Amino acid sequence: MPEFAEVIIDLVSYGVDRPFHYRIPPGLQGTIKPGMRVTVPFGRRSYQGYVLRLLEQTSVENLKDIKSINDPEPVLTAEQIALAHWMAQRFYSRKIDALHAMVPASFRKGKRPGKIKIIEAVPGADHNNLKKAPAQKKALEIIIENRAVPKNKLGSLGVTAGAVKALEEKGLVRTVTEDQPVEENAGGGTLTKPHLLREEQKNCYKRIIEALEGNHPERILLHGITASGKTEIYLQSIAYCLEQGRTAMILVPEISLTPQMINHFEGRFPGRVAVLHSRLTTAEKNRQWQMILTGRARVVLGARSAVFAPLESPGLIIIDEEHENTYKQEETPRYHARDIAWWRARYHNGALLLGSATPALESYYRAREGDTLLLNMKERVTPTQLPPVEIVDMRQELKEKHRLIFSRLLLEQLNEVVERNEQALLFINRRGFAGFVLCRECGHVVRCPSCDVSMTLHMDRQIMCCHYCAHEASVPVTCPGCRGTKIRYFSAGTQRVEEEVKKLYPDVALIRMDRDTTASREAHSHFYRQFSERKANILIGTQMIAKGFDFPGVTLVGVIAADTTLNLPDFRSPERTFQLLTQVAGRTARGPGGGKVIVQTYRPNHHSIVCAKEHDYSGFYEAELENRRQLAYPPFSELIRFLFSGPDEEAVFNAASWFTDKILPLAGDAEVLGPAPASLYRIKEQYRVHSLLKGNMLVKLAPKIKKLIREYHGRKNPSEVRLAVDFNPQSVL
Ligand code: ADP
Ligand code: ZN
Repeated sequence: MPEFAEVIIDLVSYGVDRPFHYRIPPGLQGTIKPGMRVTVPFGRRSYQGYVLRLLEQTSVENLKDIKSINDPEPVLTAEQIALAHWMAQRFYSRKIDALHAMVPASFRKGKRPGKIKIIEAVPGADHNNLKKAPAQKKALEIIIENRAVPKNKLGSLGVTAGAVKALEEKGLVRTVTEDQPVEENAGGGTLTKPHLLREEQKNCYKRIIEALEGNHPERILLHGITASGKTEIYLQSIAYCLEQGRTAMILVPEISLTPQMINHFEGRFPGRVAVLHSRLTTAEKNRQWQMILTGRARVVLGARSAVFAPLESPGLIIIDEEHENTYKQEETPRYHARDIAWWRARYHNGALLLGSATPALESYYRAREGDTLLLNMKERVTPTQLPPVEIVDMRQELKEKHRLIFSRLLLEQLNEVVERNEQALLFINRRGFAGFVLCRECGHVVRCPSCDVSMTLHMDRQIMCCHYCAHEASVPVTCPGCRGTKIRYFSAGTQRVEEEVKKLYPDVALIRMDRDTTASREAHSHFYRQFSERKANILIGTQMIAKGFDFPGVTLVGVIAADTTLNLPDFRSPERTFQLLTQVAGRTARGPGGGKVIVQTYRPNHHSIVCAKEHDYSGFYEAELENRRQLAYPPFSELIRFLFSGPDEEAVFNAASWFTDKILPLAGDAEVLGPAPASLYRIKEQYRVHSLLKGNMLVKLAPKIKKLIREYHGRKNPSEVRLAVDFNPQSVL
């Protein structure tokens, strides 16, 4: 029997980022299992730790004993332990960070959810022998009658704790701990039947089934235009997978985890779907988790972090809208759900299915190179065509003295929508009223005192607000720089668009959806319902309305300013812009009324915009791939970003230089860029400086880099400048 255990201390610190060995006292031998949490002495105190392995022997001397076990059952599976090892290496995180990603926060506080104490009668116990103690007699009668009573229900049945205690002492009842009975998810109500697949869908479905049949891991990219019926393929593939006796998982971006989406899955697999997203309360989350652990849930539907759900033998993992950057966790451990999903698919000999109308350049490149099976769907389910897209050159509008935020073409089309009582979406990727406030006389821009950005004007609340730190200030009447009065508002946001629409169409009902109007839990579904019931004609919004919405009544989509994303100084900006435009365009022409898209821009010749107009993914892909090739950016290289931040500008630069000097001799063929100020140089009073490592097979350098990171954190005053290490960053701003 193993007498030793390898334990990771539950402390978020680089100092303890390695396993420690402990002796298992004889009383715990045989009970302790990998994945359980234990209490161990460490230094002069006791800490919680996670048991990773049991050991027959160890060369470490003077071992201390494990003090106690904290869980009746392991909280981590063997798979999760293996995954944590890999993550710590791949994403340069501490092991404990990786473990925390897998265990829900409520488990982490030491409580295991779903366990309850039950009082049951010992077999043979007879209340007739208790004539002298009427309270106990009555209590035992009730317990026998109910077979078993949850401890917290005793009171409501009129049984006192004292009576139970006495019965327990007499050996007539006993307390057992049981899994909480899991309530089934109520389900969205209507059961849905599988659609008969169209030809294209059928071909794709067949290939996915082949992958499920073959008992080896396979990665598949389903490139299907908007409304080509990808979701139906997901549903039928999952059904097949369940028939094989396996489980399945589908990840969607947080934003598309709408009631409509949940109903799709609940309707097809009633009572067998666990839904995981960030808006759940702790109790709800625990219930979903319990459904997974007890094996009742065979399908997990969730956002990014659901990728860690301890489903037993998943045969199919689906990532819908796989290009979305919400799949990247932007805090340590900085993982990408796509990488985790592929790791898990390999572990289980399962299939990973990536779906998108606009696959990430990197995913498509892999498919072209033959690393991923590529499936295509080029037709929409309904006999509707993709909508025609018209580009409006806003420079020309200006030249012709047309200064409204709506071009003449967009106005004309809006008028028609209103006249015909149809619906329109107006998309603008900025909330608030105006992106910046500028003095026409001296050029002064109101900036956030803590961040290196201009403040956004929020007209409804009459304030200026920083979108990075939420700092608020009053709206200037005179310029703080020159006391001039020619204050002007630039870069329209959702509020400005709303105001303009109200001016133009005072009697038309409109809805505005952005982070400011959807703060409450129910707001999202409320607006969604209102618009789908056609209680409003115009929906104005940010990215929030660009994705997933399926409204047949929408005949016009207006993109107010396509340049908002395009102008960000990030190498992925063109890709983001193309994806976003394609997504919004896909929101129309879904019904019999057809549809039209109007894109307003100051850069009408940019390939992101031209290709979006033509619905030309491969054209965009080729052009953008060539740019990436020339700059040796992903997929032609891997990147690691080292971001240093702190309140003292000089200290931040010194730390970045120290680190960069040390990484240079390790880099080999890889290129080291920086240190340089990040584009967002100051956020929340923190200066930000970064270095980039660019090369291939960077995994070879991982052990050396990890060592350097540890050395960095072992320096004097390590907390003065924070270091964030990001493997294949999704943003380098
Ligand atoms: P995508 O995910 O590719 O954007 P959806 O899966 O949302 O497309 O499909 C669009 C609509 O078409 C949905 O309402 C869906 O129920 C319906 N649909 C999908 N496949 C079929 C089919 N084979 N026959 C009829 N309707 C279908
Ligand atoms: Zn700020």
